Amino acid sequence: MNTPLPNLPCKAKIISFESGDGVGTLEIEGGAHVRFGGSACIGFMPDVGLVCWLIETKPNPVGGGIRAKTVNLTGAWEPDRLTQLDERNRQAQEWKQKEQDLLQSAGIKDLRATSCHDLPNMAADTRKMLAATLMAWKREGHFFDELFTRLVEVSPDVFHPYLSDLDAKREPESLAYVDAPFDAVAPLVRMLDDATEPPRRVQLEVGKVSTVLNARRDMGAASNEVGGAMLALARSGHPKAREAISSWFKRAPETAGDEAAGLLFQAGFGVAADGTLARTHSIAAYELRPVEKPARGEKKGLLSSVLRAFGARSESRSPAGSMWGTGRSLCGACHVPLIRVLKIGTAFVPHVLPDGLADEIEIWTCRNCVAVDFNPYYVKLGQAPESIFRDPPSSDFKPSIQHDSVSSEPAAVMSVPAPSRVNYMFAQERELNRVGGAPSWIQGADAVPCLMCGAVMPFLCQFADPPDDMWSGDCGMLYAFFCVDCRVVGTTVQCS
Ligand SMILES: [Zn+2]
Ligand SMILES: [Zn+2]
Repeated sequence: MNTPLPNLPCKAKIISFESGDGVGTLEIEGGAHVRFGGSACIGFMPDVGLVCWLIETKPNPVGGGIRAKTVNLTGAWEPDRLTQLDERNRQAQEWKQKEQDLLQSAGIKDLRATSCHDLPNMAADTRKMLAATLMAWKREGHFFDELFTRLVEVSPDVFHPYLSDLDAKREPESLAYVDAPFDAVAPLVRMLDDATEPPRRVQLEVGKVSTVLNARRDMGAASNEVGGAMLALARSGHPKAREAISSWFKRAPETAGDEAAGLLFQAGFGVAADGTLARTHSIAAYELRPVEKPARGEKKGLLSSVLRAFGARSESRSPAGSMWGTGRSLCGACHVPLIRVLKIGTAFVPHVLPDGLADEIEIWTCRNCVAVDFNPYYVKLGQAPESIFRDPPSSDFKPSIQHDSVSSEPAAVMSVPAPSRVNYMFAQERELNRVGGAPSWIQGADAVPCLMCGAVMPFLCQFADPPDDMWSGDCGMLYAFFCVDCRVVGTTVQCS
């Protein structure tokens, strides 16, 4: 051990390594030997024969001499693992504090408790300030995911000045393209026109560990630039953008077209056989809230004047419809009364359904059959609702789930304008009973074709938290789709 150490960093070779106790020996240029521990190795697994770099040494705690503090494969100086960890912790703490300060400056006490109505109602300048700060942080390498997601879902406009800094391929960033001005997406039209490869989706790797939220985002994301361009163009909604997409589909080979159509479907668009693009979600959306009945003997006039004095919005509107009724029609499979999930006046939910369709629309399903046996469950609306099936069930059909009680008291609801998109992960339960907008999928986007004409049905409404565990477990969601031409309702259930 008399050979002097050369200047660091220096090249070294691992000449021994015991994986059991995680220590080994490096031979460095000039022949000297230096002991090292596995924890000193940054970015690689030590193995005998491997050539690496000794970056820094420290005194050996036992027996004197020196020991490796940092070993890597690049030869570039970097702090040892413990110092790196400390630094990362310090930075994370610092960002946490900055996030708290930002929320406070926008008057948000608790982001989790902030309703999806609070953000759109916030002053435009405050939303713009939040967007500008989020984007400045993104350039510094910090992404405040929860706030970005909530803000882009309810107010994509505030991110329009920053589209060039956002990745059209990735969710939630691609949502910033919703209603984007044509100038911002014109280069993407050219990209799609000149594309030499088809738009592709992310294929989830089997066995890859990911959070549910990230996996769901990946399922909806594009994996190449052309895919990102197509998503962004569809979301911008500009007629010229849609035209570019339609003309791509007209010249696309069938399999490439299928993959691109799947990508667009996740983003809320259906592609018809002739290549035209149709929204499967509406921009207009409404939350359904129970109508508060005034308590017995309450002085209504006095109450509302008190509410006005405190600046509260009055919740006493006339009902738009009702949820959870039971009718006389029976399920054609299990023969229990169908549940009327929703009855709503179409005037209370403008721009969700085509104008002049009907004064009222009803959503029916079978509580027994929808979760397992017939998912989706189809009902044809007419004088009376009638369940319809692709393969008629046999006369001795027994549903997998049989509820003791299938009747339910209707509850009056009112409709309140809401953001077109509510993320299941970030929403409060009461915000998930909705008409219009985009479905808050639990498991990922699902196409529901019309049983009569086969077309992908547009989304109509969704319901969480039904009385008495109505679907199958307490966190299931029911989604309803409607074919206007055939007057067919399809309901489907997803559970977490
Ligand atoms: Zn049934
Ligand atoms: Zn149809």
